[in-house]
Amino acid sequence: MTNHYGKLYVVATPIGNLADVSFRAIETLKQVDLIAAEDTRHVKFLLNHYGISNKVVSFHQHNEEKAADSLLEKLRDGLSVALVSDAGTPLLSDPGMPLVRRVKDAGLDVVPIPGACALIAALSAAGLPVTQFSFEGFLPRTSSARKAFFTERLTTPTTWVFYESCHRILTALQDMSTILPPDRQIVIARELTKLHETIVKTSLAHALELVEQDANMRKGEFVVIVEGAKVIKQDEGLSPEQQNILAILMRECSTKTAVEMAVQITGARKKLLYQAALALEKVNRT
Ligand code: SAM
Repeated sequence: MTNHYGKLYVVATPIGNLADVSFRAIETLKQVDLIAAEDTRHVKFLLNHYGISNKVVSFHQHNEEKAADSLLEKLRDGLSVALVSDAGTPLLSDPGMPLVRRVKDAGLDVVPIPGACALIAALSAAGLPVTQFSFEGFLPRTSSARKAFFTERLTTPTTWVFYESCHRILTALQDMSTILPPDRQIVIARELTKLHETIVKTSLAHALELVEQDANMRKGEFVVIVEGAKVIKQDEGLSPEQQNILAILMRECSTKTAVEMAVQITGARKKLLYQAALALEKVNRT
C-alpha cells in the first residue's frame, strides 16, 4: 500500500565554501514544498547563490519541539520538507533530533542528503587513526567540568574529536594540558574550507604554544582531534597517562590512597604504581 505522506529530507549544506554542496542537495532544496532552517536569513545566502526561491520557515533550538509538531502535520498533509542547519550536517551539534525522531516514530520517511560535516572533513585530513573514533560535540563550559571531561578520556585508546569556538579554544587547550601528557598528538583544524584554513598536527604542548602566541590561531571555528592513549602492556611499565593519573591523585590525597585509587582507575600493577609514587615523592621533595 502506498501512502501520500511527504518526506523529510535532512540536507547537508557547506561549512564555509559555498561550492561544497551536492547537486542532489540543490535539487532537493528547489523541489521541496518548504525548507525548515536554523536561521532563515543565513540560509538565504546559499539559496540566493544557487538561484533558489523557495519557502523558508524557522526551525531553531528554541522552537524545536513546537516546530516539530507543526512540520509533522505538514508531512502528514503530503508536503515535503528539507531540514537545513546554519552549516554542515543537521543534528551534528545542531537542531533537528526531536524532529527526526518524531517523524521516524510516526512511520514517515526521513531521507539523508549527505554532504559537508566539519568533524568528518577534519578527520579526513588529520593523519590520526579513524578506524574507531568518538565525537564529543562541544566541551563543557566551565574549567572544572572540562578538566573532569579530559580526565575521563585520559586513557581512551581511540581518537576523539570535539568542536570548539574561538572564545574557548585557548582555555580548552590550557585545561587539557593540565591533564593530558604534553607529547600527546593533537590536530587543530581551523576555518575548514575557508580562506584561512589551517590544519596543524603536533604535540599538545606545542599546540598550546601556537595558540597562545599567535592571535590568528584563536580566530574562527575549530575542530580539535586528539590521539588515543598508547596501550601499554602490564609488564612494560606505566604509560604516560597512568603516570599522569597517579600524579593528579597524589596532589589530592595520601600516597597510599592515590596508589590504591590509581590501581582501580588505570588497571596498572600496584607495585609499578607504588614505585612511581615513591619517585614522584622524591622529585616533589627536591
Ligand atoms: N552541523 C555542523 C557540522 O556538520 O559540522 C556543526 C555545527 S556546530 C553548531 C558549529 C561548530 O562546528 C563550530 O563551532 C566549529 O567547532 C565546527 N565547525 C563548523 N564549521 C567549521 C569550519 N569551517 N572549520 C572548523 N570547524 C567548523
